Amino acid sequence: MNLEKLYKTLEGQPKYRIQQAKDGIFKRLAGNWDEVSNISKDLKEKLNKECPLEIDAMIFASRDAKTTKVLITLSDGLQIESVMLAHKDGRHTVCVSTQVGCPLACTFCATGKMGLKRNLEVEEMLEQVLFFSRMLHEEDKRVSNVVFMGMGEPFLNYDHTLKAIGYINEDLGIGARHISVSTSGVIKGIERLSNEKMQINLAVSLHAPNDKLRSELMPINKKFPLRDLLKSVDKYIVKTGRRVMFEYLMIKGVNDSPAQASQLAGLMKKPLYMVNLIAYNPTDVFKPTDKKAIEDFKTILEQEGVGVTQRYSFGADIDAACGQLANKNNCK
Ligand code: SAH
Ligand code: SF4
Repeated sequence: MNLEKLYKTLEGQPKYRIQQAKDGIFKRLAGNWDEVSNISKDLKEKLNKECPLEIDAMIFASRDAKTTKVLITLSDGLQIESVMLAHKDGRHTVCVSTQVGCPLACTFCATGKMGLKRNLEVEEMLEQVLFFSRMLHEEDKRVSNVVFMGMGEPFLNYDHTLKAIGYINEDLGIGARHISVSTSGVIKGIERLSNEKMQINLAVSLHAPNDKLRSELMPINKKFPLRDLLKSVDKYIVKTGRRVMFEYLMIKGVNDSPAQASQLAGLMKKPLYMVNLIAYNPTDVFKPTDKKAIEDFKTILEQEGVGVTQRYSFGADIDAACGQLANKNNCK
């Protein structure tokens, strides 16, 4: 899909024609222009050539059927992945990638091992959501939530990410409050987001309660240490009045001790701070914390008065964590 070419093809046409075309993509959720009514045959042919809607994707479904993952091949042959989680309450969350690979090299992350190949285009982000929207549409269901937590660092591809969010919000009709962006701590991006009008949610990947460990796990911490990171989050909160979710992967023997829980509580005991403990999907290097130890860790945070939730890992059997699948397929 290439929206620029679409607009170019429709240049000089009345405004409603552009709206019809956009409705074809975002409301009718067409996979081909032939499916869109009230457009002439000639124009359909032209659009199929200039702005084809097909998405080249391979689907992997987890055994528990809660997680569906797609490996999408882009026009230059590079591959990205996107995941959809089906929740018990009927919601469907799509996890979107923003880059092919990632330059930030967190040691626990499969995407980090790939390095950065390139930023994704706006359309390449949209296609990830459209793919699942089309799939659900056939069952009369819809994507209800979108999280930018797939491969890559959204704030290193800020403009494209925010443009994609604009389409997802306005054209796909997913409420801003149901859209979240996760950053590993790119302060400039947090500052810019605090000036946006859209009420989207901010998540920050923390994963460690002190600079020493965080710098070991996440090299970006050497550039933006915890003090500066949390200061920028505080400014964001003052400006927006919105909650911020701190993600904390539970990695066995690395960041999951009771002492580390207390240290984390010290950082997180602030209004509008929330901690989300996430079960780690095992990789060659690290293993997940046991359930019992996660519970103990959570209890310490709760006793200290920190807002804490827990996210169980989805789809470990299809490597549903960030970057694991594209990496296995030797992403070109
Ligand atoms: N670069 C951004 C955006 C998402 S990264 C960020 O770091 O916040 C993808 C998310 O997947 C991060 O929260 C990361 O911590 C998580 N992740 C990476 N490897 C994982 C694994 N093996 N198991 C579970 N989550 C993982
Ligand atoms: Fe990049 Fe996020 Fe993975 Fe770190 S965790 S390497 S920032 S994608």
